[in-house]
Amino acid sequence: MSRVRRRAHRDPAASARARDGVEREAAGMMKWWGWGDSAKRAELGEEAVAMLRSELGEAEPAERAALEQVIVPEPRPLPRAIADAVGPGAVLTGREHRVRRAAGRSYPDLVRLRSGKLDLAPDAIVLPASPAEVARVLEICSREGVAVVPFGGGTSVVGGVEPLRGGFDGVLSLDLRRLRGVDVDRRSLTASLGAGLRGPEAEDALAAEGLTLGHFPQSFEYATIGGFAATRSAGQASSGYGRFDALVTAIALTAPLGELRTLRTPHSAAGPALRELVLGSEGAFGVITDVRVRVRPVPERRLYAAWMAPDFTAGADIVRSLAQEDVLPDIVRLSDEAETRVSLAMSGAAGAKRALLAGYLRLRRRARGCLVVCGWEGERKAVERRHALAGRVLRAGGAAALGHAPGDAWERSRYQGPYVRDELLDLGYMAETLETAHSWSGLGDLYDAVRAAIGASLAAEGTPGIVMCHLSHAYRDGASLYFTFLSRRRPGAELEQWRAVKAAACAAIVEAGGTITHHHGVGRDHAPYMRGEVGQLGLETLRAVKERLDPAGVMNPGKLLP
Ligand SMILES: Cc1cc2nc3c(=O)[nH]c(=O)nc-3n(C[C@H](O)[C@H](O)[C@H](O)COP(=O)(O)OP(=O)(O)OC[C@H]3O[C@@H](n4cnc5c(N)ncnc54)[C@H](O)[C@@H]3O)c2cc1C
Repeated sequence: MSRVRRRAHRDPAASARARDGVEREAAGMMKWWGWGDSAKRAELGEEAVAMLRSELGEAEPAERAALEQVIVPEPRPLPRAIADAVGPGAVLTGREHRVRRAAGRSYPDLVRLRSGKLDLAPDAIVLPASPAEVARVLEICSREGVAVVPFGGGTSVVGGVEPLRGGFDGVLSLDLRRLRGVDVDRRSLTASLGAGLRGPEAEDALAAEGLTLGHFPQSFEYATIGGFAATRSAGQASSGYGRFDALVTAIALTAPLGELRTLRTPHSAAGPALRELVLGSEGAFGVITDVRVRVRPVPERRLYAAWMAPDFTAGADIVRSLAQEDVLPDIVRLSDEAETRVSLAMSGAAGAKRALLAGYLRLRRRARGCLVVCGWEGERKAVERRHALAGRVLRAGGAAALGHAPGDAWERSRYQGPYVRDELLDLGYMAETLETAHSWSGLGDLYDAVRAAIGASLAAEGTPGIVMCHLSHAYRDGASLYFTFLSRRRPGAELEQWRAVKAAACAAIVEAGGTITHHHGVGRDHAPYMRGEVGQLGLETLRAVKERLDPAGVMNPGKLLP
């Protein structure tokens, strides 16, 4: 068995980094008011801005507070024993540190951050360097009554890292970035990954062994292994590689009352799977410290291509056939008419290139069709064979082939969306997403109901919008729907405007029998819908588990369970 270990735990350089103050600690962190690296921008072309202005109306550009102006609540002192447990360099109390852990990255989070007025911020940030340090901190917090919010990459879009006190005197953000172990078992094709590794860090470590995890959510650049597990994340290639939870073979959770660790066997029939209980627990049961995942060789060939389906219903039938005939590409994403139109306008394809595409589509009577992006990854011959088989299903369903260029363009820009959102917010527009899933039988009605609810709610707010959707994460029995909506913001009432639309969309999802979340998780925003999702007894069962693992109730109060 060949095995490679890389441990940064207890590494003196890592301890020095933890002591080195704001600049070093902030290096590699997201910009505090938006997404990603502050040096990167995704400027919108003139055509895109003109389209927004004509369809949504002229918006009042949004101001952004400077970091020095941000108002945060006064921190409360935390028990000294916490600093003793992790070492003084691993407790941060500076204002910038607290601002950076005060919110996730949903639209309301960004509105609050940009406004410069934060009602909530953690009292301190604690950076444990090992599962043993996590255990000590949780034990102290339980004893002393301090709420603990596990913090991975802080990319939650459902209020998962909101520093709620839950009635306790203090709240700390437990930043897990120092849990960075990598342990590859080549023979079994599994790897144990520390919870604090970000997507690219985990992929780099695996690539050094010629391996990949294949988990590429749009938040890949910043989200962490622990966060993926805690939220049951689904990546863009989930149809081929599987959702993150499907990649996990074993998991370790440190709870205030002790450690749960599952065996490294591929499967076990020894009762209900504890692994499943930990996956998706969103920090409410304890801290996931490391996860053993299935990995595979880096693909020899990657191939992306696009088609234009006649309409969304026909496109959904094509994806269903692909799934049910066992020829599903590793990546499959069907945009509805609105998303197709807006993506083409935002893509920057202009002039001769755009005219060429329009002419080609007119010829095939697809001028108002729906874009289907597919991707295959793996061994060269297998990729080519699967591509050909899927092509037959796509053509039989009436899709016109657009070739590789639009597929490659999607691949190149797959992590651009959140940067574009920052630009939209600067211009004064609201841009938000939400997702759900249903069986194939229920998907059409769910699509109609959610789209109508978002559209009607935006119009009732006096800010009619564009509502777009794509279908992805396809299964034999159903798929996920991912909605994006844009509208003018209501200056000064952005949060009320967002709440109204979100409530309308959630009510429509529940009414249509969809799940309240396919992969973003529950957090604070979806907690009120958990009773409907799992039923009263289901909720009591989850509460009983929490009470057993976290009797003081300090773990991530107000999240997951209403
Ligand atoms: C622009 C954007 C695009 C996104 N795209 C996708 C996508 O394609 N697919 C997808 O699934 N999601 C997506 N998300 C949502 C988000 O990225 C995922 O939920 C991700 O898994 C969160 O990881 P994180 O490390 O940032 O976790 P955080 O945001 O830090 O935490 C999320 C929740 O998990 C808890 N938590 C974090 N780490 C641990 C741990 N080690 N132990 C216990 N609890 C923990 C936190 O307390 C919180 O409740 C997107 C978000 C954004 C902003």
